[in-house]
Amino acid sequence: MRIEDFQQGQGLSVVSASGALYAPAADTALLGELPWVLPLEHFSFSSLQMLELCPRQWKQRYILGIKEPPAQALVLGRATHGGIEFGLDTKMVTQTDPALDLVLSYYHDAVWPQLVDEMGGSGEILWDDKPDLVRDKGAQMVTAYHPHISRLEPEAVEYGFSLDVGAPIPVKGWIDLVQRNGRPSIDFKTAKARRSDVKPEWRVQARIYQLAVPRPVDFHVITKTVEPAVVTGLDAEGLLVPHSELIDQETKRRLRQALDDANRYYATYGPDEEWPARGIHHDWRCSWCAYQKDCPAWVS
Ligand code: SF4
Repeated sequence: MRIEDFQQGQGLSVVSASGALYAPAADTALLGELPWVLPLEHFSFSSLQMLELCPRQWKQRYILGIKEPPAQALVLGRATHGGIEFGLDTKMVTQTDPALDLVLSYYHDAVWPQLVDEMGGSGEILWDDKPDLVRDKGAQMVTAYHPHISRLEPEAVEYGFSLDVGAPIPVKGWIDLVQRNGRPSIDFKTAKARRSDVKPEWRVQARIYQLAVPRPVDFHVITKTVEPAVVTGLDAEGLLVPHSELIDQETKRRLRQALDDANRYYATYGPDEEWPARGIHHDWRCSWCAYQKDCPAWVS
């Protein structure tokens, strides 16, 4: 997988591991009349999501660069991804289905310790349970997913893309799995319980992926239940997001609008004044926000 030759204003070439050229997302529409002042190198789905829900939270994270301590759910999700992706990488290279023992050995010996290191060590993670229990839960979830690897056709795992959507900076991202033969792209989700449809934010995520790889996106949900289960678009068609070229145009426009908003906030408030603290309107956003302590929405 590789990101190729992004050149501002000249569109994009995104090339897969096999050399296949995917759809460029060129568009010439301009942002508002304000000069571009936002000190940002690229935009992404997660950045868009945070900006939409709370501009102040977004400024703390993406402008001031104040990192949130990693929560257990993030660690479990990434560990599960890591184990599954090793299985897919192995299949891509060997053209055979990986043995479960091999996948689990790699999960325990490489994925988990590297991830905890990357998060700054076990002491930096906000655990709700004992770390060993979380590690074992991840292994159970990888085990539950393992049989599904046999029906996938991996072309690129953790496929990186960079898109020109007609804004001053590119939109970057990673797709968990791009398959051969035009089959749907896959995104893995870990969830508390089974679900049969996509969350609204997953739909937006899929639409951004579709600017890079214009195909349906199939969300594979792996539950954290006592007996982990897997639900995919084959089980529930609500987990499959179809591709539409008309929607592509709207997605690019939406991304430009969001960047226009962020640029306007920066031009108006700069890095020092408070940006709108809109998370207060959301049912759980503030409860999980690392920037609540000094947030004006919570001054008492
Ligand atoms: S506490 Fe709530 S309103 Fe304040 S920055 Fe965080 S999400 Fe936004």
